[in-house]
Order: sequence, then structure tokens, then C-alpha cells
Amino acid sequence: MTLAAPPETIDPATRDGLGCHSGRQTMREAAEKAGMSETLSRYAKDYPAGPHDQPQSMCPAFGSLRVGLRMRRTATILSGSACCVYGLTFTSHFYGARRTVGYVPFNSETLVTGKLFEDIREAVFNLADPDKYDAIVVINLCVPTASGVPLRLLPKEIEGVRVIGIDVPGFGVPTHAEAKDVLAAAMLNFARTEAEKGPVQAPRAPREDAPTVTLLGEMFPADPVQIAGLLKPLGLAAGPVVPTREWRELYGALDCAAVAAVHPFYTASIREFQAAGRPIIGSAPVGVEGTAAWLDAVAAVCNVEAYKLDAAKARILPAIQAALAANPIHGRITLSGYEGSELIVGRLLVESGADLRYVGTACPRTPYSTADCEWLQAHGVEVVYRASLERDLAAMEEYAPDIAIGTTPVVQAAKTRSIPALYFTNLISARPLMGVAGAGSLSKIINAALGNASRFASMKSFFDGVGEGFAAGVWRELPRDRPEFRVKRKAAPLAGQGGEIGAC
Ligand code: SF4
Repeated sequence: MTLAAPPETIDPATRDGLGCHSGRQTMREAAEKAGMSETLSRYAKDYPAGPHDQPQSMCPAFGSLRVGLRMRRTATILSGSACCVYGLTFTSHFYGARRTVGYVPFNSETLVTGKLFEDIREAVFNLADPDKYDAIVVINLCVPTASGVPLRLLPKEIEGVRVIGIDVPGFGVPTHAEAKDVLAAAMLNFARTEAEKGPVQAPRAPREDAPTVTLLGEMFPADPVQIAGLLKPLGLAAGPVVPTREWRELYGALDCAAVAAVHPFYTASIREFQAAGRPIIGSAPVGVEGTAAWLDAVAAVCNVEAYKLDAAKARILPAIQAALAANPIHGRITLSGYEGSELIVGRLLVESGADLRYVGTACPRTPYSTADCEWLQAHGVEVVYRASLERDLAAMEEYAPDIAIGTTPVVQAAKTRSIPALYFTNLISARPLMGVAGAGSLSKIINAALGNASRFASMKSFFDGVGEGFAAGVWRELPRDRPEFRVKRKAAPLAGQGGEIGAC
């Protein structure tokens, strides 16, 4: 195979030193010159940017890496700067990956001469053992993407092992949630092409006799079980959850009656399902009203008879109502996160009795969260898509919640103000949300946190006088504040700090 060297678009002396700090525009321009315009245009359409066009949380590529590492018989290789790979490897093991993260290192010379691509190619050939792997995923991080390292020229298959090359730059994919979609969609596309060509591998578990509904979005393990229970009276079954845990589940996911976009931001994956002719349902079965609307939508696209739908609702909705009534939440709440499930969690909180004032999500607005957005707004909740950290913090100041649910910096800011706070990712998304199990699951942890308000007040008074911000600590001589340095550091403000208000 003859390969063209990547175009000389970035000064070779600085190529491997580029990163998040280099400026989105510089990286984007370099990538476009290096022949990545098509990929970047697709990303710009799929993942419209806002204040989050520069990552405000972890590196977006973590989403793709996590999806790859969670799949059986799948090897995942990173191609990027050593510092990025260190951070991503650390984070993946922090979250219990228990898998090797592959890495093809580079330097200015191998990047400029095209040797990096040859090294990646060699690594893929060395790894492609069909006894061990169904697929190898190669992820181009920022610098190789900006340099146009052409993963599309990797062989599609080596001895039956599929090779999936994707570009996941921080200057093209705004959040790690959307990076999950990049890899899931690439795999769905590959599997769809295989299925169109002929017979494919059967699923590990026996296939359901009933038509299935594929579930889109990572969720708590009990949720698919709850959803299966909701679908059964309709004569339907729950299909695989995408991102899948094994390659062969992709065929089962595509072979469904409908797709439930429980997480609404999987735009590229939805395109693959639509290309396979599958209808898509938004929102999720949360709370009484959410579950009723979701069952209606499923019944409509799957042609379920009205009597079955009515019977299912008559059986399940009172049970959800009872669970909500038995586990009420009383308190004013602001909620923000970057998982993509923020709006459905918001619905559940409102139905649990919470005085929810604000929902900020780092994810973009899509048609599949419109119903949730409208429902929340009708209940007096401010909804902001692509909400920046600044916007989330401003909401906390404005609404003075009894409890703030949010990302790490929001929780830290809340705690310094003596406001009880909970991490969305670790504590809220790691709980069941759907059906009866979801109806009572949030109250315990939220009510416990609400009960801690007095402890925050006593901690605040205990530490009173030890200083805050630049002067935090006990000092012989108080440090001098240097606001002029902060102004200088903030010389390049974010494109906007407002997010996109949910005008659904
Ligand atoms: S790959 Fe991630 S950590 Fe590295 S420069 Fe890009 S966004 Fe930053």
C-alpha cells in the first residue's frame, strides 16, 4: 500500500505539543488543511457547538475509549500526544476498565513523515488475532486528527478482525457523551454493511420471539430490565442496549421494531438506525406521565392494539404513582450534567414533588428530548442545552437551591456556599430511573443530602476565618491577590456563557 504523507499543515516543531490549550481554531484550520473537512463538517452538523465547543469537562475522547474498553473481544488503541493518552488511560482505569489501553506513540518526525500511520497500521496487524478479537478500534486524538493521520486507509478487516478507525478531536466533538455516539455509530455502520451482505453471527443469548425495542444510551443495569417489564404486556421485548457490550449484539440492535433513544444525543447512531428503516422514539419511561407518554409512542410505532396498551398502562402506572407517593422529595433543586440524561432525571424529580428550577445539560438539543424539554418548561423549569459551567453556576446563584446536583466544579462551588450537593455522574446516573424501580430510587439519596444542610452550616462556622479563594489557609502573612493575572488569563473568553435556552 502506498501512502501519502500527511500534509504539512502545522509547524513540525510544535505538532506534538498541540493540545486543548492550542486554540480550537488553530487545530480546526490545521485539520481542514490536512483533508479532514468532511469529518469536521459532519461533526459540526451532528454535534452543534455552543459554549461547550471547548471541553469544560474531561477529554471528549474518553467517551469513545470507554465504549471500546467495555466491549468484549475488542482492542482499543489511542493515537495521540502522550499527555492526552496518560490522562485518558488514568481515567479509564479509575472507572474500572480492567483492560489494556493500546497506544501508538509518535514524535514530530513520525507525524510529519507519515511514519505514524505506518506504525498504527503495523500495530493493528500485530494485534489482529481472530481468536482474541472481533474488532480493533483506533482512536485519533487531537494532534493526529489535526495532522490528518488517515485512519480511513487502514484495512477494514484483517483475518476476520474488523478495524474501526475514528477521529475524536476535542475541537470537533464537544462532549464525551457525544464521543460515545461517534464510536457506536461507526460500529453500527460496519455491522449494518455486514448484515446487508449476508448471514451474520447469532447473538450469545437466545433471540426473543417478540419484536424488540433497542435501547440507545448507557444506563443503570436495572433499567433495561424495568423497560423489558413495561414492554412485555405490549407483546414486545427489550433489545440490546447500544453502545453494546459485544460485537454480535450490534446485529440484534439493528434487527428491531423500534429504537428508544433514551439518551437523545446519539445523532449519528440514530442515522444508522434510520438507514436500516427503524423508527426512533424519544424520551424515556420515567414517572407516571413520562411512562404513559413513552408507552403511547412505542405502541404507535409498533402497531400495538389499543386494548393491550390500555391494560399495560392500567397495570403499571398506579404502581409508579404509589412508588412516587411513598418516596417524596421536598426541596428546591438545580440540576446540571454532561451525561445526556439530565432532562429525564429532571422529569422524575418533578414527579417526585421536588421544586426543580433549572436543568442544564452539556449535550445539544435534538428532536428526541423535545417532549421532555416542553414538559419541564410547562412545569416551570428553566432548561438550557449546551449549558456552560458558568451558566450552571449562575443558575445556582439565582435559584439558591436547597440542593445542587451537578458536575464536579458545580458541586465544589455549592459546598463552599454551604449548599448540599450531589455529583450527577457518580450518584444520580448510577441509579435506576425507569419504571417502578426508578420512581423511588432518587428520594433516598437526595433526602439524605438535604438532611445534611445543618452539617454544612456548622462546618462553615467551624472554618470561619481561615480565608477563602486566593487567601484560603492559615497564613503568617496573607497572600496578595493578583486580579490582573486572572484578567490576563481570561483574555480569550468562551464564545458565550449562556448556553442555548431550551426553546423547544
Ligand atoms: S485529545 Fe483530549 S486531552 Fe488531548 S488535546 Fe485533545 S481534548 Fe485535550
